[in-house]
Amino acid sequence: MKDELLARRLVENEVLARTNNIKAGNAMDAMSTKIKAVFFYCECSRKACREQIPLSVAIYKKIHKDKNRFFVTPGHDTSSVESVEERHPSYWIVQKYDIEAA
Ligand SMILES: [Zn+2]
Repeated sequence: MKDELLARRLVENEVLARTNNIKAGNAMDAMSTKIKAVFFYCECSRKACREQIPLSVAIYKKIHKDKNRFFVTPGHDTSSVESVEERHPSYWIVQKYDIEAA
């Protein structure tokens, strides 16, 4: 039970980080599509994490097309709630096991 609560809280942290990034992404969208890379906050489950990841808006949007996908700083994955789908030099893409069921 305790683990379940912990897992839920970890996911909530990630969803919160993503919500903030979505707002930033939308604001940037309106500004320009010419910007090559933008710094987004790492969407890992560590509440205190303030790592920033340079991503092109196109890549950022591609990742967020799937609501269970998040991007994190390499090594910031939490194996109890997600699996690493893609490893890139500056960021990893993680896939949540199942947010709805949590
Ligand atoms: Zn992080």
